[in-house]
Amino acid sequence: MKIKNSRILVLAPHTDDGEFGCGGTIAKLIEDQNEVYYVAFSTCEKSVPSHLPKDILSKEVKLATSILGIPARNLKILNYEVREFIRDRQKILEDLIEIRKSIKPDIVFMPSLNDVHQDHKTIAEEGLRAFKFQSIFSYELPWNNLKFQNTLFIKLEERHIKIKVEALNCYESQQFRTYGQEAYSIPQAKFRGLQSGCENAEVFEVIRLFF
Ligand SMILES: [Zn+2]
Repeated sequence: MKIKNSRILVLAPHTDDGEFGCGGTIAKLIEDQNEVYYVAFSTCEKSVPSHLPKDILSKEVKLATSILGIPARNLKILNYEVREFIRDRQKILEDLIEIRKSIKPDIVFMPSLNDVHQDHKTIAEEGLRAFKFQSIFSYELPWNNLKFQNTLFIKLEERHIKIKVEALNCYESQQFRTYGQEAYSIPQAKFRGLQSGCENAEVFEVIRLFF
C-alpha cells in the first residue's frame, strides 16, 4: 500500500521534532508525489545555547526541511514560547484550525498523545481537536514515549534514512544532545525494519484513519 497524491501535514512542536519522528517518511512521501507541509510551533529561543544566535533554529529548520525535499513555501515557522504551550493552548488550537482551512491536509503527522513533554502533548491534544476529519498518525520520539502502539509501519529504503540523518545534521546547535546523532536514527530504522520484515522503517500510532 502506498500513500500517493495526498496532502500531508507534519506538526512539529519544536523545530527538529518532525525530522526525528518522521524524517525518513517525509523523504519517501515526497518521492511518491505527495505534497508535504511542515509547521514548527517554536524555535526555542530560550533554550538556544548562549554563544549562538537566538534565531539559529529558524535557519536550521529551513535547511533541514529543504534537504527532506519540502519546498520553502510549505514551511511555516511559528513563535510560541518553549515549555509554555499549555498556557497558549487555545491560541495554538485557533492556529491549527486556520492551518487546516488553508492547507486542507489528508493526513496529519503529530507527536503521540502519550508524549510526556508538555509542548508535544499539547500539540497532540490540540491536533486531535483541530483535525476531526483527517487521518492522524503519531510519530515516535522514544525518549518521550512511556508507551507507544506500533500500529503503522512505513517501510523505507536506505536512501530515505540517509536523507533523514542529513537533515538532522543541519541542527548544529543541537549536536550536544545525544539523540541528534546518527547513532540513534540508523539503528532505530533498522530495529523498526526488523519488526516489519524489511531493511528500514519508521513506526507510527494510528490515531484516526479515513480512506
Ligand atoms: Zn520537541
